Amino acid sequence: MRIDKAEVIVTSPDRNFVTLKLTTADGLTGLGDATLNGREMAVVAYLSEHVVPLLLGRDARRIEDTWQFLYRSAYWRRGPVTMAAIAAVDMALWDIKGKAAGMPVYELLGGASRNGLLAYGHASGRDNEELFDSVREHQAQGYRAIRIQSAVPGLKSIYGIASNATYEENSGVRYDHEPAQRGGLPNEEDWDTRSYLRHIPTVFEAVRNEFGPEVPLLHDGHHRMTPIQAAQLGKSLEPYDLFWLEDCTPAENQEALRLVRQHTTTPLAIGEIFNTVWDYQQIVREQLIDYVRSAVTHTGGITHLKKVLDYASQYQIKSGMHGPTDISPVGMAAAMHLGLSIHNFGIQEYMKHGEKTDAVFEQSYTWNDGFLHPGDKPGLGVELDVDEAGNYPYIRAYLPYNRLADGTVHDW
Ligand SMILES: [Mg+2]
Repeated sequence: MRIDKAEVIVTSPDRNFVTLKLTTADGLTGLGDATLNGREMAVVAYLSEHVVPLLLGRDARRIEDTWQFLYRSAYWRRGPVTMAAIAAVDMALWDIKGKAAGMPVYELLGGASRNGLLAYGHASGRDNEELFDSVREHQAQGYRAIRIQSAVPGLKSIYGIASNATYEENSGVRYDHEPAQRGGLPNEEDWDTRSYLRHIPTVFEAVRNEFGPEVPLLHDGHHRMTPIQAAQLGKSLEPYDLFWLEDCTPAENQEALRLVRQHTTTPLAIGEIFNTVWDYQQIVREQLIDYVRSAVTHTGGITHLKKVLDYASQYQIKSGMHGPTDISPVGMAAAMHLGLSIHNFGIQEYMKHGEKTDAVFEQSYTWNDGFLHPGDKPGLGVELDVDEAGNYPYIRAYLPYNRLADGTVHDW
């Protein structure tokens, strides 16, 4: 069970993915997702230059010890690059342990706590008619819970809209919202919070009128509001019974959530850009959120995110793991094994990958009537076709950024 080989594989089938592949002396392999959207090559360098030499010869069975060694021995802790690199090692070691045991990873984590994972998809539109079509398309694909994002009159291009003009110009396809644009420099989008705050409640009113009270609806504020603006939005959305309002304020300021919480009963989800349990210390202890948005890929892997979710479970705070297309199928599988096993699972974000990605990553997880399941193959249940991956070399890609009408850079 000594680690004999550690390879960092970069491939760009529909977008960039970074995968760590570990091979043991007895021939077992494990995969880990290290994809950090828009800064992929920083993690590649971190892994190749600094982590791979530490892994060769180590005992692949010692997952916790390896995690602590990589985290503490670096001295410079935390941050998305470090934690994505550690996450990839951690996932690959769980994959190997599952294969060695002949069990899916969720069995090693305590076994299934449910039959499947409720997942939500992303509906969006430039106007209500296009949004309703998108909701119907998602329902036809089996989605039972749906995130609602809408364009705002007067703004030309904003987050979360699959049919943004810039998106169509760059890719020519609409399979889902994919904000990172390959080749070239970051797209500039525009923003006006007051217009957004006026418009979004009218969108939710229209969606509830069209689709009724039952369907769980979610919305992502994408870090753009001040605390009092977020409080105002949460309050104005209360009649429409949201499953959650996500990232209503920039997440670094944990105290901001106190003010939001004092003013609204709309459930709050936060943390897709958090990396460690310490990022959640105050907001969990003070019960300022309802859902933890971290991805296995960006939060130090299964080992560390399980600690975050166990801590949150004391306060009835549930999981809502990040799962857009920049989480690779390996990272998605890891999320599903963890989500199936923990008691405080809430919901899983799930955007289907493109056909090219599915050909590179052979998956055994399933999508059935709105529920995901990681499958029962030993380990994580995902294999990488290295030859197919080699057909798609890395292409630099940037996420967009925002400017206000007067030219000020705003949170994207
Ligand atoms: Mg989000």
